[in-house]
Amino acid sequence: MELQVKSGLPTEVTALPAGALADALRGPTLFDLRRPGERPLFVSVLVHGNETSGWDAVRQLTRELRQASVLLFVGNVAAAKAGLRTLPGRPDFNRVWQGGDSPEAAVAAAVAQRVRAANPRLAVDIHNTTGRNPPYSVVADTDGATLAAARVFAEQALLATQPNGFQTGGFAHFCTAVTVEVGVPDDPLSTCRATDFLRRLLGPSQPESTASPLALFETVARVTLGDDAVIVPEMQRFNFRTAPAGAMLVRQGEIAAHTADGRDVGNAYFTQDDDATLLKRPSVIASYTGDVDAARQDCLCYLLEPARADG
Ligand SMILES: [Zn+2]
Repeated sequence: MELQVKSGLPTEVTALPAGALADALRGPTLFDLRRPGERPLFVSVLVHGNETSGWDAVRQLTRELRQASVLLFVGNVAAAKAGLRTLPGRPDFNRVWQGGDSPEAAVAAAVAQRVRAANPRLAVDIHNTTGRNPPYSVVADTDGATLAAARVFAEQALLATQPNGFQTGGFAHFCTAVTVEVGVPDDPLSTCRATDFLRRLLGPSQPESTASPLALFETVARVTLGDDAVIVPEMQRFNFRTAPAGAMLVRQGEIAAHTADGRDVGNAYFTQDDDATLLKRPSVIASYTGDVDAARQDCLCYLLEPARADG
């Protein structure tokens, strides 16, 4: 696997759905659509192969993208062909942006090097969620430019300190960077959200800030499951809201909550009721997924607290 770099965005490529890109591109590809004298917008799609709304937005905005100064990264086309987040046995392409020995990490490093050298005005990574969440941004920084970009997309944002190696976390070291979580892949509204957001960023004037402030949350813990756990899909209704004490997180089985630095904080949040694990205290949750495989592979949900912005 090696990063491919192309200097145009051909119609033969934008005509293709995400699942057909692997046959047209030889792997992860950076489309260099920069214009001289204009700081580019960096756009990243398909870092997760089954999160296709970002690519579908690109297909709708081909003309606008060609006319703007843009670097477009199209990520895991092999996983997209298989309809999977990540191919079995391969590293998650959104966990390799802060180093590593894998071919994926080498591609990520090559992309980061080129993007950094291009001095982008903003880096945007477009994802779908597996759980039913309201649209939200993910940021790794709380400076004004980052939060303004997050607010252009949605009313709520997550200040992420984990997982390690996600693209926005890596890029925040050298430019304003934001991840947008546009909704589940099979909801047509998700593509509309991605398209609207990109269109606003590509427009001639800077997007105006809106009246309502951004609600910024911080991840305090990531909740993971054992193979025996039985999830409670109805919990998705609490995503980005406060779930009450006593709400059932799993019907049965092993569950754990860890901070970014690996501390086990399960005792602070969980209480047992026979086989079930309940919330011990009211807690804001996010990204609770109704897909048990995704919950086991990645995580069940995150536990959040309100976060404070830098000045
Ligand atoms: Zn994703």
